[in-house]
Amino acid sequence: MKRAFTIWGLLLLCLCGRVYGETLTVTPDLQPTSLTPVLRLLEDRGGELDFAQIQSPQYQARLTSWGQPAANFGYSRSAYWVAFTLRNPTEQPLSLLVRQDYPLIDYLDFWAQDSDGNWQRTATGDRRPFASRQLELREFIFSVTLPAQSERTFYLRYASQGAMNIGLSVTSETNYLSKLELDQLLLGIYYGGFLVLVIYNLFLFMAVRDRAYVYYMGYVLSYGLYFGALNGVTFQFVWPENPWLANVSLVFMLGLTLISGVQFAREICAGRQLAPRTDKLARLLLYILIPLTAISPFASYRLMVTTFTVFTLVASVLLLVMGAISLLRGSISARYFMMGWIALLASVIVYVFKTFGWLPHNAFTHNAFQVAALIEMMLLSLALGARVNEIRKRGYIDELSHLHNRRYFEEQLPREFSFAARSSTSLSLLMLDLDHFKAINDHYGHRQGDRAIRAIGDLILKQVRKPVLACRYGGEEFAILLPRTSEEQAAVIAQRLVCKVAELDLYEMPLTVSIGVASFERDNFEAALQLFEAADMALYRAKQQGRNRVVVSAPDAGQADGVAVTKRREPAKV
Ligand code: GH3
Ligand code: MG
Ligand code: MG
Repeated sequence: MKRAFTIWGLLLLCLCGRVYGETLTVTPDLQPTSLTPVLRLLEDRGGELDFAQIQSPQYQARLTSWGQPAANFGYSRSAYWVAFTLRNPTEQPLSLLVRQDYPLIDYLDFWAQDSDGNWQRTATGDRRPFASRQLELREFIFSVTLPAQSERTFYLRYASQGAMNIGLSVTSETNYLSKLELDQLLLGIYYGGFLVLVIYNLFLFMAVRDRAYVYYMGYVLSYGLYFGALNGVTFQFVWPENPWLANVSLVFMLGLTLISGVQFAREICAGRQLAPRTDKLARLLLYILIPLTAISPFASYRLMVTTFTVFTLVASVLLLVMGAISLLRGSISARYFMMGWIALLASVIVYVFKTFGWLPHNAFTHNAFQVAALIEMMLLSLALGARVNEIRKRGYIDELSHLHNRRYFEEQLPREFSFAARSSTSLSLLMLDLDHFKAINDHYGHRQGDRAIRAIGDLILKQVRKPVLACRYGGEEFAILLPRTSEEQAAVIAQRLVCKVAELDLYEMPLTVSIGVASFERDNFEAALQLFEAADMALYRAKQQGRNRVVVSAPDAGQADGVAVTKRREPAKV
């Protein structure tokens, strides 16, 4: 009789085994083991089923063995019910950790039986506060205990607006801890890399003051924060109380990354000069991306993620074309840019395919994008360096003052002028000339004179902080181009410069400077040359009126110059 029961029992077990999928046998020193092959799954299209219903024989029968190495369902409106069974054949109870490795699941519920056989639910997910987790880690970790010689089934329910990546694994508690430590170390290295790049380039920016560095830093920062959101790191450490922010920051940062990436590429590839048509397309893309990014926190998450994923592909291809054209036209910085971009593009394709469920979700597809991004950042930093070198090599830098030289100024002035004319912004030009410099040279010697010129160069860089183009135009003459600066603002800057030069205490040299200011506003000049001549004329007047002063050219008022005078000390009479 007893034997008959056992046989029936065994038969039933075999049957159940076939219907309900395999059981995973666990050991005390279990290494991380994927649960995907032993999962049983049920797609709940309306997302209406509850746990009690899942327990009923009707739905138990519909939980079907998955049996595949990965369980990605791309963007899905359905909820997914997941069950798996673990068997502990040993004589001692086992403490295990069940891990869901994709940290962006909106709602994740976990059911396990306690020692009395009652079902206990843990309701978490990244739409719930961080504290809803059993263990406050960036990934979802559920702690379970399997009594000696027992078999237990666990259930999970997944619901998410983002990618439905079911990545479950199980580990013994001890093995998980050492894995966690390695994980933390790698994450630290990864984000440390971003931080180092930002800080390093910030210092370079302070020295070089090239706009491209600003876009670069914006790009690295937003990309770093994007990955922080993707990995659940910012949710864990930056805004654990704010699930909304954790979710919108992902799309918002992706938008910012695209914007700063496109801007950076345009700058580093000299898009406007070398690839004007592609550059126009890139500008068009920016006009779409900027408002999209601005509304992204308030729009549907699913829609924004999909849109940005598509735009990521568009931007990648566009910038690849721009880089290629720039490279073919001889830009050296475009070489590094292309290397970085190709690495990134390949990994973006892998990632997008994974997101849409065309490639499996595994350590490679999930991390290739991130690692490639950091490599790209390093290569782009090299591209920036190459660009600075290029500028120097092409002889755009004045050796004595470290400002740009006249050649560069003459190339940039028409560019900035036509840009200002097209975008209806103002553009101001300051022409500076040191007063009685011949006499200073005669009295203090040529070497001291050179020092004075260098000191004036430093002073200009320090005092004029806006996006600015400053150059040494000739011997002791300087030109400062101020985009998007009105006449009034330019006069203030000029006035400050006059004062600062007069205050300079350089070997007792009585240094003073005269400045002529002219501004392009409301189409008052037709060509860059006219702007230049007006500033030069104003400078001439400043000299005539006694030096050590600013004269603003006022072409509208029939050459009646506005005059501002400073007389801190008498101009040199040596
Ligand atoms: P002002 O402009 O006030 O009318 O008088 P100025 O004496 O400055 O007149 P000018 O422009 O004729 O003289 C410019 C002098 O600047 C001539 C030259 O001795 C000096 N100079 C030009 N380039 C350099 C340079 O690179 N180093 C030094 N030390 N002096 C230079
Ligand atoms: Mg002079
Ligand atoms: Mg002069």
